[in-house]
Amino acid sequence: MARPAIAIHGGCGVMAQLDLSEAEWSAAREDLARALRAGWAKLQNGGTAVDAVEAAVMVMEDSPQFNAGHGAAFNAAGENELDSSIMDGATLAAGAVCAARRIRNPVSAARALMERGDSVMLTGQAADRFAEEAGLRVVDPSYFGTERRRKALASMQARAKAGTTLTASEAEKHGTVGAVALDAAGHLAAATSTGGFTNKPVGRIGDSPIIGAGTYARDGACAVSGTGKGEVFIRHVLAHEIASRMAYLGESLDAAAEQVVMRDLAPYGVGAGLVAIDAEGRIAAPFNTDGMFRGWIDRDGRLAVATHAEVFELGAA
Ligand code: ASP
Repeated sequence: MARPAIAIHGGCGVMAQLDLSEAEWSAAREDLARALRAGWAKLQNGGTAVDAVEAAVMVMEDSPQFNAGHGAAFNAAGENELDSSIMDGATLAAGAVCAARRIRNPVSAARALMERGDSVMLTGQAADRFAEEAGLRVVDPSYFGTERRRKALASMQARAKAGTTLTASEAEKHGTVGAVALDAAGHLAAATSTGGFTNKPVGRIGDSPIIGAGTYARDGACAVSGTGKGEVFIRHVLAHEIASRMAYLGESLDAAAEQVVMRDLAPYGVGAGLVAIDAEGRIAAPFNTDGMFRGWIDRDGRLAVATHAEVFELGAA
């Protein structure tokens, strides 16, 4: 029997500490803790790592704090196109949906597709239809929009006109949610869900639904969920790269995750972060931005959440 553990992120597109009140930061930490507890409840009650990552991601998709589900970033046409994927490290089974517009919880559609077993990825209307036929909740596209994301779109479009996109804050640009878990049977899983980049081109797909790039899980190695500029995650097949470094070079999870986020991606000057867990339940959560919404319940059952450098240890889960 393994000692279960879970880690989550709510994206590395975090505002500067001074931009929000302490009450607002505390509400964000509260949502992170809720997501962790939802995943942990599965792990404690005989659920699998897949059950845990889906449950944790659903809580963050439903929260307006994060760029996924309700509260997702808008594309250049002022619409939400949602990407998500899930992977079972025990079997390498995976499912993904991309550019979905009506699925309330894209991670559940990714899981349903994984379980159907004939395709790994569905896009656009086909993904929406699949979710509806699978009996999942579909919503009017207006459900996903929030005032904060509308402002971010207006700001990014003004910046695009003025040629100042590069100086936009990480919070204006992007975000994502994700979870990784190890269950009592020793199996790993990862899931990721996002609205992508604010002002992204219509039809642009990021790394989050791409197995190996933004999401990857393989028993005996690790499970990884990424956040940040998706294009570089795709080009580096980043999540899979961490598993490969561990398998081929014998690196620890920490060393492999640190290498790809802090060194391999450094030349691009883009925001990036991830959460990862290894086969023993060790957790890594590197990021190169000022902050990353994140949290974990470790092998000893201790819960911690953080948005910037300070980690809030909240005791037993
Ligand atoms: N990785 C996401 C994407 O490129 C965005 C993010 O995590 O910030 O779609």
